[in-house]
Amino acid sequence: MFGKKRVDINAILDGQIEQLLRETSQFEDMLNHKIYCESCGTCITMENIGIMIPYTENSVTKLKFYCEKINCIEDYNSNG
Ligand SMILES: [Zn+2]
Repeated sequence: MFGKKRVDINAILDGQIEQLLRETSQFEDMLNHKIYCESCGTCITMENIGIMIPYTENSVTKLKFYCEKINCIEDYNSNG
C-alpha cells in the first residue's frame, strides 16, 4: 500500500540530495556513514533516505533524516 514511490523524497533526484547535503556540510558524513535515522537509528544512505527535514542549530542549517521504513515515516508524521 505504501510503496517507496509514495515517499516525497523519491521525487527528488539524487543530484539534488547531494547538493542539499553539500550545502549543509553533511555530504561527507553520509559518505562516512555518520548520518542516522532519527527514529530507528539506521545508517542513512542514498538508497534508504525517507525524509529530510531542515533545521537550524547555532545559525547553521542542517538536515535531519528518517529512513524509508514505514514505521519511521509514521513516527515522523506523528511527531511532526
Ligand atoms: Zn528508520
